[in-house]
Amino acid sequence: MSALPLSALHASHGGCWLREKDLTGTGTRAISKGEAVMAAADTPLLILNAPLLATRLGYPDLSGLDLLELYAFVHPARFVVPTPKGLAHALDLTPPENDADVPRLLQDAAGALLAMCENGAWSEREGAWTALQSLTRMRWPWASLLTGRIRKPERAERWLFTRLPEWEETPEVPQPRQVVLEDGEVLQRLEKLTGSTAEQRPGQRAYAVETAHAFAPRERSGHPHVLLAQAGTGIGKTLGYLAPTSLWTEKAGGTVWVSTYTKALQRQLRQESRRAWPERRADGSRPVVVRKGRENYLCLLNLEDALQGGFNGRAAILAQLVARWAAYSQDGDMIGGDLPGWLGTLFRQRGIAALTDRRGECVYAGCPHYRKCFIERATRASVGADLVIGNHALVMVNAARGRDQASRPTRVVFDEGHHVFDAADSTFAAALTGAEAIELRRWVIGPEKASKGRRRGLSARLADVASYDEAGAKAITDARAAAEALPGDGWMQRIAENAASGPLEELLSAVRTTVYARDESGGQEAGYGLETEAAGLEGAFVEIAQAARMALAELRQPLIRLGMRLEALLEEPPDWLDGPGRARIEGARHSLTWRVDTLVAWEALLDRMGGPADPEYVDWLAVDRSEAREFDIGIHRRWLDPMKPFARVVLEPAHGVVMTSATLRDGDDWAKAIARSGATEIEVMPRLSIHQSPFDYAQQAEVLIVTDVPKGDIPALSAAFGRLIETSRGGVLGLFTAIRRLRAVYGRIADRLARGGLPLYAQHVDPIDTGTLVDIFRDDPAASLLGTDALRDGVDVQGDSLRLVVMEQVPWPRPTILHRARRMANGGSAYDDTLIRAKLAQAFGRLIRSREDRGHFVVLSPAFPSRLLSAFPAGTPIRRVTLEEALQRVAGHAQGAAADRAEDSQSLS
Ligand code: SF4
Repeated sequence: MSALPLSALHASHGGCWLREKDLTGTGTRAISKGEAVMAAADTPLLILNAPLLATRLGYPDLSGLDLLELYAFVHPARFVVPTPKGLAHALDLTPPENDADVPRLLQDAAGALLAMCENGAWSEREGAWTALQSLTRMRWPWASLLTGRIRKPERAERWLFTRLPEWEETPEVPQPRQVVLEDGEVLQRLEKLTGSTAEQRPGQRAYAVETAHAFAPRERSGHPHVLLAQAGTGIGKTLGYLAPTSLWTEKAGGTVWVSTYTKALQRQLRQESRRAWPERRADGSRPVVVRKGRENYLCLLNLEDALQGGFNGRAAILAQLVARWAAYSQDGDMIGGDLPGWLGTLFRQRGIAALTDRRGECVYAGCPHYRKCFIERATRASVGADLVIGNHALVMVNAARGRDQASRPTRVVFDEGHHVFDAADSTFAAALTGAEAIELRRWVIGPEKASKGRRRGLSARLADVASYDEAGAKAITDARAAAEALPGDGWMQRIAENAASGPLEELLSAVRTTVYARDESGGQEAGYGLETEAAGLEGAFVEIAQAARMALAELRQPLIRLGMRLEALLEEPPDWLDGPGRARIEGARHSLTWRVDTLVAWEALLDRMGGPADPEYVDWLAVDRSEAREFDIGIHRRWLDPMKPFARVVLEPAHGVVMTSATLRDGDDWAKAIARSGATEIEVMPRLSIHQSPFDYAQQAEVLIVTDVPKGDIPALSAAFGRLIETSRGGVLGLFTAIRRLRAVYGRIADRLARGGLPLYAQHVDPIDTGTLVDIFRDDPAASLLGTDALRDGVDVQGDSLRLVVMEQVPWPRPTILHRARRMANGGSAYDDTLIRAKLAQAFGRLIRSREDRGHFVVLSPAFPSRLLSAFPAGTPIRRVTLEEALQRVAGHAQGAAADRAEDSQSLS
């Protein structure tokens, strides 16, 4: 392999470096931003991650020969951290020691990737030649360099859609046997999973035995076994519950769902489950299946459309790279699966979302790729699986509207159980907004403009039904006419210009007027939308709401009639209705039911406008904005206590449910955790168990509350972050409660830190998805990462890469209408305290992930209330200190860690 003789450009916050194409020439030289921009505009340069480079250079139009695009072509579905170091590791090249080394690495990496295409052992060769022909026509910058290196196959290559395997029909699954798990056998299973040589962990053993109780036969209908198990970090709870789970599935022949909130835990579960189950059973089926919402998976029909002209320009190139990936993907999961999270951002647009089935337009068996469809495969596989790894929202949706009984979860372990409340809150919410309503309109009518692609309305999707069944045809026509009342393309613009069209746009316009009329922010951009209670609404508003309600009812009626016609067709099938046709009609009926339910919820919401408030709900009007730009308008409804519908929909039909987390309780108090489980709603008293973390927090961690950084003082806040990161030599996770402050701090310190060899990354600033940001952070002990909520408990970084967590202030809840209602119903400020302690505990939980981890947890808060201190694990030293003292303590730790690292590398060499 030899380096590619093309010029290469690298830019970080610390500067810009160019290496000319003449490899024997002057080598790499530091250049100014202006020179870098000129060079990039002049000729295509080798670069890594164009959008990130564009941000660093302040030159949004930057393009070039992006190594990440080449990597995605050569090694689709293979993991790489998208940094110079990550690329070097993935390609087995020497990692660069500093920024100036990077251009040389880019030349080497390009050489290595191109050489791979000529290598007989290239495992992702199939399909490459064919894809390259299309990419050449699209003038993909890499195409000319690849041409000639990829030999034309002797026989025509299998096209993606023939290459993918078909899923098999699965027989109906019998109901599980009723079995009781003995403690001894559970412990034996645990030992098998952990390995007999592994150190015995008493906490984990007790936890496994406790969890097994949830699998006992149910004693009364509607009364599942519910276990609340608080398991401190380090207990080994994953294997702790997988032991009884695998034993029960083996003995009972049933399916257990393990549900998580974060993708990081899903990944971990997939790995750990390999200890209990083989990859495949003797019959070839998979015992463990990862299930996500359908909007996560690639829709092959959408991809086919995109490949055949539905996408233009750069998006068409993205479609080709996605097609390369689809042929090698494990399960077609585009969001958090094996499609690199960075691929979509490289193309700076929402092409990825357009390739999934977000709009529920699936035509099921009417689709030519139905038998190869990733979504259908995952759905079927989960019916016969032992273990389904899902997420909280999906479990709830499946419990509410699973296609059939067999796909409804009856034994569920909710890991990250402290998030069940939030997931239920969104799942059982109703939102009548412009964005939601226009989706419904498109689903019924189809897109307005003559757009390419398959997006079609109901009448096109059910054309055969319409031609066969007169009543069905009339229902479709009526629904189509009624859907004209919903907002159409350009609705936001019309509303802004006071030219709303139709009853729903009239309603949204009235919502907007009311929200602005009542706005108390004084024009201050708070970083999120504007909202007002759905109370005290005047007569004119109520009349408009009623007109909108009637319009929705007009649409609901024909949809119900259509659903009944479809049902009749299924009961007395005509001759032409073959198996696939039947499946398609079942699919259509399923999505009809879902739309009718949505309409019912919207009508109920409108019905109550102007009337007395229902104490079960919190309703409000909102204009959603981002950076002062409106993006949606509507009326929202949440349950005051979303665990009520959760209890009815998920708990009541279940047989056994475990909710487990390191932060289930508030301090020593179980009462709130019980109330937040929903169990009392169905008159079940949950079994409670607690398992303390084996970590020695007194030795491993220290909480520092910094008292001399004034709240709201951005220069002081930035200086504090900068100095903490410098003192710790990176390895800092900075958590913010407001994006505005995060950006301000980042803008002030990133350049200086980078010049000192301490790269800083930030959510909401860097054009990189959150999962990739965490991968980058994990991969580089000198890097630091700033972020907001998603990082507070979605990050599992063991070891040296995370040594210091800094919270910019006490994470007070956002004072929304919903929060105010729940606060009033749950004890006022005590409710706030519970929420804050939970957030602090979750953030602290990022720091110590193993017995070897050491670190500091810093909160920048001059007046941190003592009552919140119980958020931290017992025994953790807590000190109120000045910033100087905090820096000294962090410095002491940083020196110790550096000495440890030096010792480690000596003993390795
Ligand atoms: S079956 Fe539905 S989701 Fe699957 S590829 Fe076809 S249209 Fe897309």
